[in-house]
Amino acid sequence: MIKYDLIKKEAKTSARLGKIHTNYGTYDTPMFMPVGTQASVKTLSPEELKDIHSGIILSNTYHLWLRPGEDVIDHAGGLHKFMNWDGPILTDSGGFQVFSLANPKDIIEEGVYFKSHLNGDRLFLTPEKSIAIQNKLDSDIAMSFDECPPASADYDYMKKSVERTVRWAKRGKEVHDNPRQALFGIVQGGVYQDLREYSAKETVKLDFDGYSIGGVANDGESKEDMYKAIEYSVPFLPEDKPRYLMGVGEPRDIIEGVIRGIDMFDCVLPTRLARHGHAFTQHGKINIKNAKYKEDFTPIDEECDCYACKHYTKAYIKHLINAKETFGARLLSIHNSRFLIKMTEDLRQAIAEDRLLEYRDNFMEKYYGENK
Ligand SMILES: [Zn+2]
Repeated sequence: MIKYDLIKKEAKTSARLGKIHTNYGTYDTPMFMPVGTQASVKTLSPEELKDIHSGIILSNTYHLWLRPGEDVIDHAGGLHKFMNWDGPILTDSGGFQVFSLANPKDIIEEGVYFKSHLNGDRLFLTPEKSIAIQNKLDSDIAMSFDECPPASADYDYMKKSVERTVRWAKRGKEVHDNPRQALFGIVQGGVYQDLREYSAKETVKLDFDGYSIGGVANDGESKEDMYKAIEYSVPFLPEDKPRYLMGVGEPRDIIEGVIRGIDMFDCVLPTRLARHGHAFTQHGKINIKNAKYKEDFTPIDEECDCYACKHYTKAYIKHLINAKETFGARLLSIHNSRFLIKMTEDLRQAIAEDRLLEYRDNFMEKYYGENK
């Protein structure tokens, strides 16, 4: 089980400071969660994750179900022991990956047929199966199995979809059987205000340990639509439970999410950008492969306290990335992940001092070169 303490609400926005207690420790919110898809945050060791003050990490049920299989992880003593991470872990439901692999006709009331991305095998995932796998993985927070329709889905489809997602949430909750593990419900409904309200209210009736807002990072909906989807959902969520915005990691979106009352975020962005030679800095995103860094012997970001910035220069990391040395991707992964976690630390400080909007305006001007 987890316990959420609401510490403080910011004076001028819907932002909150909180603490979430789990069997594997306590973390502060707002918090960014690095993604460990295959029970590993790409290129980072658990010690490096601790060094960047990662309070909780996320892992993917779909990938671990296919390989190595939930029984292997169960026999290892659960996901924490298997991957040597003694901090909190959240597992997703597998829904997001499965729906990206399924044809519309393969989505039925019972569950979803889809083809394995590893060998093309036809597989079937249901709400009950997703929860059973997560029970065995023994994460601290499990997610309900929801349908993830594209943001472009029309109203009639979206209405049927959110109704089904509520039925699936109920089925999953009924079979959830791990007293150490919390279970979150998921609000869907795309860009439709009444469907977001319906989805939030019906999901809250089922009484979950926390609530997620899904369907906001799918297929290129506008920023405005994303922020509206949050605004349509949050008012119907209880104050005494954590709120998690799934799949969002762009700095601007984390800030706008926090302002609208979100506590937790996850995204593959920091490690994916790293593998392509990109780095967050307080003055915006940079491409380390750029010729101008050839003899730039300064750190990626002068103000960053991470291992990469304390010991290495842009010129060196550029060289590693060009030479396809994995140490380069690792240094950038450390830096990028630390950048977003440090940002949530700064956001918490700003909430504590009731100056979140000033923080946003300063950050935006520096990072995006605009005052918004
Ligand atoms: Zn750094």
